[in-house]
Amino acid sequence: MMSQHPLKEFYNETFVMAQRQLDEVAKAMNLDAGVHERLRWPRKSLLVSVPIKLDNGVVKVFTGYRVQHDQTLGPSKGGIRFHHDVQLGEVAALAMWMTWKCSLLNLPYGGAKGGVCCFPEEMSESELERLARRYTTEILSMIGPEKDIPAPDMYTNEKIMAWIMDTYSNFIGYAVPGVVTGKPVAVGGTLGRTEATGRGVARCVELALDRLKLATDTPTVAIQGFGNVGSITAKYLHQKGLKVVAVTDVHGGLYDKGGIDIPRLMAYVREHGSVEGYPLGETFDAQEWLALDVDVLVPAALANVITAENAHLVKAKIVAEGANGPITPDADKILEEKGIFVIPGILANAGGVVVSYFEWVQDIQHLFWTEEEVVSKLYHLMDKAFVDVYDRSVALKVSPRMAAMMIGVGRVAEAKLLRGLYP
Ligand code: GLU
Repeated sequence: MMSQHPLKEFYNETFVMAQRQLDEVAKAMNLDAGVHERLRWPRKSLLVSVPIKLDNGVVKVFTGYRVQHDQTLGPSKGGIRFHHDVQLGEVAALAMWMTWKCSLLNLPYGGAKGGVCCFPEEMSESELERLARRYTTEILSMIGPEKDIPAPDMYTNEKIMAWIMDTYSNFIGYAVPGVVTGKPVAVGGTLGRTEATGRGVARCVELALDRLKLATDTPTVAIQGFGNVGSITAKYLHQKGLKVVAVTDVHGGLYDKGGIDIPRLMAYVREHGSVEGYPLGETFDAQEWLALDVDVLVPAALANVITAENAHLVKAKIVAEGANGPITPDADKILEEKGIFVIPGILANAGGVVVSYFEWVQDIQHLFWTEEEVVSKLYHLMDKAFVDVYDRSVALKVSPRMAAMMIGVGRVAEAKLLRGLYP
């Protein structure tokens, strides 16, 4: 007898959640059963040991993963995270979300994700370099500009992308900038990549506000997380005249009823590494961020933060998922019943992978664009996807997440049916 769950090693909370979202959309769109079954599982997964010598001379082994969920529409694409919570099931869920995200934005990619289980904040720069290079070596056979293209994610940055590019290029024998995106501009990166995710989140919030017509001229915002996504989202929302009244990071929460001066806070965080100790505004318990009386909430940190236990506390009218998977399916239902407009992560935070795609295209054609070109092309794709999602959600009376998934899953399914099942 075949077991009920042939791939039970993937099972964890986040993977179950990603599969459940797919199952719900498959049912709603009457998806072909064979395609549905194939899409429930990642195509290829690699688990590697990553040994490095720490600065104190001790050798330590870290666990690394690379999961390719799907490659129907092209090479797989997705970031690499360095985090102490990284597990196979979580990486597989994130890879699945990348498939829907790329497809929704009409990028010629499937989805992938990678990660190394470690405490990056406690590691020196030279230890991180050895970790990135050895991890790259271990997953080398899986990646390449035509196969699978990594990028930054939580606690990885352009410096780490440069080491990945260098390690891969040394094995191949010549410079291969297109193997990874999110690189520094000096080694084949693109202008506008660092800010792309936050820019896209802010754009989606703006488009949603435009549709929902709230009865206020200066909508208020609370943001969970002040890393790359949270801080850049705050910067652009602030620039557009919204009032960012609360931000949190791992050390605590900062609240200012009159609105936080975001450029000033960003300068402070660059110097001190955290929002903690910022002289203006007041501190508050970061756990309470989601219950704040604001118009817009932006979870831009971890997965599974808005759950069935706390979703009833949300007072905002719009929630934009800057992070991947911050709202559980049960919480989603509660927010939907409360009439809250949720901009799903596969749309809201897609700006990063959109500009990654532009970087890859520029690397392949050896012709680089201005920042204005990058930003205008980014907004063009984001606006189109937003309108597609919004219109479909209104026409079918489904949530924006369901509409976004229907478009994302639908394109992959169509291509899968046309290509057929080999052999
Ligand atoms: N890690 C980002 C994401 O979750 C970016 C991926 C990419 O640029 O390939 O979308």
